[in-house]
Amino acid sequence: MARYIFVTGGVVSSLGKGLTAAALGALLQARGYSVRLRKLDPYLNVDPGTMSPFEHGEVFVTDDGAETDLDLGHYERFTGVAARRTDSVSSGRIYSDVLERERRGDYLGRTIQVIPHVTDAIKDFLRIGEDEVDFMLCEIGGTVGDIEGLPFFEAIRQFDNERPRGECVFMHLTLLPYVKAAGELKTKPTQHSVKELRSIGIQPDILVCRSEYEIPEKEREKIARFCNVRPDAVIAALDLASIYEAPLKMHEEGLDHAVLEAFGITGAPAPKLDAWQDIVDRIHNPDGEVRIAVVGKYTQLEDAYKSLAEALTHGGIANRVRVRAEWIDSSIFEKENPAPHLDGFNGILVPGGFGERGAEGKIRAATWARERGIPYFGICLGMQMAVVEAARNCVGLTGAGSEEWNEDRAERGEDPVSEPLVYFMPGWVQGNATVSGDRDNKGATMRLGAFEASLREGSLVADAYGTTTISERHRHRFEVDISYREQLEKTGLTFSGLSPDGRLPEIVERHGHPWFVGVQFHPELKSKPLEPHPLFVGFVKAAKDQSRLV
Ligand code: GLN
Repeated sequence: MARYIFVTGGVVSSLGKGLTAAALGALLQARGYSVRLRKLDPYLNVDPGTMSPFEHGEVFVTDDGAETDLDLGHYERFTGVAARRTDSVSSGRIYSDVLERERRGDYLGRTIQVIPHVTDAIKDFLRIGEDEVDFMLCEIGGTVGDIEGLPFFEAIRQFDNERPRGECVFMHLTLLPYVKAAGELKTKPTQHSVKELRSIGIQPDILVCRSEYEIPEKEREKIARFCNVRPDAVIAALDLASIYEAPLKMHEEGLDHAVLEAFGITGAPAPKLDAWQDIVDRIHNPDGEVRIAVVGKYTQLEDAYKSLAEALTHGGIANRVRVRAEWIDSSIFEKENPAPHLDGFNGILVPGGFGERGAEGKIRAATWARERGIPYFGICLGMQMAVVEAARNCVGLTGAGSEEWNEDRAERGEDPVSEPLVYFMPGWVQGNATVSGDRDNKGATMRLGAFEASLREGSLVADAYGTTTISERHRHRFEVDISYREQLEKTGLTFSGLSPDGRLPEIVERHGHPWFVGVQFHPELKSKPLEPHPLFVGFVKAAKDQSRLV
């Protein structure tokens, strides 16, 4: 049966709870334990798929097709454990399940209350898969004291009380603000936060204190005394130059040691951290730098493309170069020459996206890369735009476009796309395809989660993956129409990856170009620092080769 580590936060949000939990997961793995990480989010949205990426960051998709919070991406990147639908839950989901059961009559007409009905539902969720791992790390979103979060805190308190002693550990993250005038780190907000936690019956075992400076011994003792934790369970979390330093730094601070001690585990093997040391060394001592233009739509908020930014970093780690990604809004060169915006980049990446806005700019970016032999990586929408580009400029189908644009065109009183190379395929719906309430596709059917693809022997992608059967995660509504294959292949755009039934184009690549690849799926979701995704490794390598040419 798993031991549970509950991770909560106080004082302010954005302290890096997810990252700390993920780093702790990696440290426990490095000591030979198995882990699973889980996120409980207090918001009332039923799932994060419907939330704006501006507000909430990217939607992370799991193999089993769940649209989840971006923290699950951190968990996967640090531990390599593939997240599942049952690793993420929101208050909205819990309430909606409870209410559905009530409507079905499962509660036999009894009064439905937060305690015990909602808290029981939360505890049932926590127990899923408890026999599979040594440690289950559960992060509670938000900060202690948030109204929506209360049922979660109450549930974890009950959970601890109902299990044999010593099976749950509470870890609380806080902030130690530095007050310049006093020249001191202040412990009072931490004390208040712990007081709040204790008032709902939870005594933290470990405090992780975010701070800009080392915590002086005197302050550490003060925190320990006032918060009723052991001094060596007060862990400093200083700002890091790279998030991938977190496992090493947290280990130096004694986090994994404190956690094992809190469980009363003695004699655990020392962690093997060579792989993390190598990564940090590669990050800090690169052989050079490549510049990648990420031509997208949600460019104001990097969190909207969190996994993508990380996957580029991983590609850099594998090639020992620093990847400088610059985010460019494609709508700025919809009608004009993109040269002033794209000149000087060693690679162009067009990421996933929705809607028509900026599409023409993305097509121009693909033309730019194709004509100049600049490495091009098109992801999901980026593949669709590369196909439209080739159809228009290589095949001569000037009306080539995506059916996705038709709604906007109708609103503007314009004709629909005459040559819909990218189209909605009704009727094929199968496997993990589910109805999503996605903001841009409003209840449309999306292809979500992992699907297999077969790669053409000898293709660039088959060489990169080292296999001809792959599984990758999808999140899109439209598909490239396979009936245009022959025309496009004649111009050098090869369909090198197809769904196993041969009906859906999954990958295109350009023959005779140094590196031009479009994929219908999201490879960034599966890239990890310890296991960089082969396509990001290949793309960054091509960009590195390109940078040596100029
Ligand atoms: N908007 C496109 C579609 O729905 C691409 C989606 C994406 O890039 N994730 O097919």
